[in-house]
Amino acid sequence: MPVPYTPVADIPRLVADARAAYDAGFTKPLAWRRQQLRAIHDFLVKEEKAINEALFKDLHRPEAETMIYDIGMARNAAVHTLEYLDDWVAPERVSGESVAYAMDRLEVRRFPLGVVLIIGTWNYPINLTLIPLITAVAAGNAAVLKLSEVSVNTAELLVRLLPKYVDNSAIKVVYGAVPESTALLEQRFNLIFYTGNAVVARVIMKAAVKHLTPVVLELGGKSPVIVDKDANIPNAVKRIMWAKSMNSGQTCVAPDYVYVHKSVAAQFYAEIPKVAKILYGNDPAKSELYTRIVSDRHFNRLVSTLDAELKVPGVEVVYGGNRDAKERLIEPTVLRGVTQDAKKHPVMKEELFGPIMPVIEYDDVDEVIAAIRAKGEPSLALYPFSSNLKFIEKVVNGVDAGNVIANDLIMSLAVENLPFGGVGESGMGSYHGKHGFDTFSHKRSVMVRPAGLEILNDARYPANGYNRRGF
Ligand code: NAD
Repeated sequence: MPVPYTPVADIPRLVADARAAYDAGFTKPLAWRRQQLRAIHDFLVKEEKAINEALFKDLHRPEAETMIYDIGMARNAAVHTLEYLDDWVAPERVSGESVAYAMDRLEVRRFPLGVVLIIGTWNYPINLTLIPLITAVAAGNAAVLKLSEVSVNTAELLVRLLPKYVDNSAIKVVYGAVPESTALLEQRFNLIFYTGNAVVARVIMKAAVKHLTPVVLELGGKSPVIVDKDANIPNAVKRIMWAKSMNSGQTCVAPDYVYVHKSVAAQFYAEIPKVAKILYGNDPAKSELYTRIVSDRHFNRLVSTLDAELKVPGVEVVYGGNRDAKERLIEPTVLRGVTQDAKKHPVMKEELFGPIMPVIEYDDVDEVIAAIRAKGEPSLALYPFSSNLKFIEKVVNGVDAGNVIANDLIMSLAVENLPFGGVGESGMGSYHGKHGFDTFSHKRSVMVRPAGLEILNDARYPANGYNRRGF
């Protein structure tokens, strides 16, 4: 039986209830926060099998990948947050830098923001909804969670089961599509945390203006890889193909396209079939380890982009190209003969968000940096590959992007101490670990002065102080 969407008419009341719970102070005590973190962790442990099954139905994703990238990352976030919560909430003492403040207590204290709205997406629907939720409750907020309707089986599971674990007065789970999101966005929140695409992000920002609500936007973009002539090519190809075909390319930090230095391009192409075999055996199309495309809409979008690209003179398939509409499967597909020119090359227009990998050959990295900069749209990730640190630094300093990994991809997301977020078209704000705790908190400055010791203040009273003595 399909789970119905949350009735739009119920949404104002749901949000009002969450606010009432927040206003009543339910969410502020550390004991409540810890209880919710443990409850979310329990959900991830006890419902592991059901989550795996739901994600298999949504994406045909192998269990190991769901365990690592969805369930595992969310569990780690809960454990890490429980371990460090006391440190994060502790008032941060600062120095006043001058004798005038020597007798004061000066602190930065983190306070909850209030009621936060978390709008999640479908590609890692556990990770991308529960890590923000973990962070929101750790900071003492009430939260309304809006699940993506695209990963329908996982959304149905979350809306049915998560409320059995968490405090339903302060944590509300909403399931639905645009009308439900729209109804939510009419309500007043103290933060909107949105993960998804940059078009909808603009809808979110517009709605946020009404209540002057801050927003965190976790978006995507065309994340480039730049392979230097000094790169370790076999390792680079293995890592790049792994990152591109994981979840069938439906990863916000997947490499979108690859620049390869001309002198190593032949070696790069020669490695691809070997690597594909290591990843998925002789026939990725038949592999149980290879994820499918989430919906017919996304499948058709990818296939029509690929077919349009294959009509461009000079573009060739280096590997893959097969697809199966019934299975919503697209083989890992590598193209050569592509250039940065989006007017000519359909694959260079929008973020691909699928297993299609255009390769652009280059001579001069300065021209590559200039071409990427000229797009004026910083991507979520940037991946230089080289054994030469100067090359890496040049790319890191020359190209704007949310996050950089050199000589690998994706792996920094699992490091709780690194902030994860975009810049420009790839988003604003960041989270993970303490960075997320700060994002979901208000940093309040607190100064406590001695009630006496008026002598210290004398100089600031006009007739008594600086006017009399002069400067
Ligand atoms: P999606 O279609 O699931 O949309 C995301 C959310 O927005 C859903 O909850 C959806 O219901 C809601 N939504 C859609 N249209 C809306 C509207 N008009 N008004 C209000 N809400 C609306 O997801 P998507 O956009 O297909 O996700 C893919 C994009 O997300 C890619 O660009 C990808 O790079 C990006 N992404 C970013 C991250 C990150 O952490 N930075 C993670 C995953 C995906």
